[in-house]
Amino acid sequence: RLYNEVQDLKGNIRVYCRIRPFLPGQSKKRTTVEYIGENGELVISNPSKQGKDSHRLFKFNKVFGPAATQEEVFLDTQPLIRSVLDGYNVCIFAYGQTGSGKTYTMSGPNITSQEDWGVNYRALHDLFQISQHRKSSISYEVGVQMVEIYNEQVRDLLSSDGPHKRLGIWSTTQPNGLAVPDASMHAVTSTADVLELMNIGLMNRAVGATVLNERSSRSHSVLTVHVYGMDLETGAVLRGNLHLVDLAGSERVDRSEAIGERLREAQHINKSLSALGDVIFSLAQKSQHVPFRNSKLTQVLQSSLGGQAKTLMFVQLNPDVDSYSETVSTLKFAERVS
Ligand code: ADP
Ligand code: MG
Repeated sequence: RLYNEVQDLKGNIRVYCRIRPFLPGQSKKRTTVEYIGENGELVISNPSKQGKDSHRLFKFNKVFGPAATQEEVFLDTQPLIRSVLDGYNVCIFAYGQTGSGKTYTMSGPNITSQEDWGVNYRALHDLFQISQHRKSSISYEVGVQMVEIYNEQVRDLLSSDGPHKRLGIWSTTQPNGLAVPDASMHAVTSTADVLELMNIGLMNRAVGATVLNERSSRSHSVLTVHVYGMDLETGAVLRGNLHLVDLAGSERVDRSEAIGERLREAQHINKSLSALGDVIFSLAQKSQHVPFRNSKLTQVLQSSLGGQAKTLMFVQLNPDVDSYSETVSTLKFAERVS
């Protein structure tokens, strides 16, 4: 099949693809990216094949090439984020192999430079700006939680005693219930508050890991922004939440090589990413039964998947030919859920 229709959107699922640039030192590598179209087309070539069969066309709502800036990516995400202030639940997540730019897109490489900020910081910054300057009688309060899901255990990344306690997940079938009520909730009123909290989150994420990147690539981190608005004239109350998710690396782990802890981690990641795929697939198919309960990840995100909620997936790609097979499996995941 040459043409893979990823754009025919059923439900409120949007898929953006982002291709990271080659990194310094990687410059002599060959790329698998043949063509990026204006309307979300992406052509990938297989380095080991010749002729017509070597190319595949995918279609997304949008493709961001290696030169796209954080600002450009955010501008196409902003309307979704702003809808949280109208009471919508929104889930934005980044999917891809380790090193494909998930953390770059969600958080950015360096939070001290505002230009580098990823979706997380820009989203919160934007929500504060709007909620403060919007001409309306609604007064907003914003609270954040941040948890990590590692080996099917949920831990609080913003807890002052460190991320040691395992947390339970509650059913969020009641309107606006909290999925992880025991994760600490932090009221935030400024971007500075957010930056401070995120630093704590990042430090906690490193606890118990030998190498920071090692652990962070094997766990999902979920930043939840709760927005509570009250109309001071009518007394009407509105709630919306935004989940910003940096998923664990989707790369396949060689079963013959992984043993012990590494194998266990790989199995958990595999299970939760397929559970996420299954949930989004069932929602897109408008299935009667949506299998939220198959993983902690889908339970935590339940309120922002399906129903009136809006979902955006960033499909992250490393353009290197050596990543070809992972790139294809990432694109297949995207194809199935769109
Ligand atoms: P992941 O979180 O998927 O493992 P990272 O976000 O850590 O990947 O990205 C891997 C490396 O590539 C990092 O050094 C990061 O700064 C760099 N990188 C990723 N995306 C971009 C981009 N769009 N522009 C420049 N550098 C990027
Ligand atoms: Mg990362």
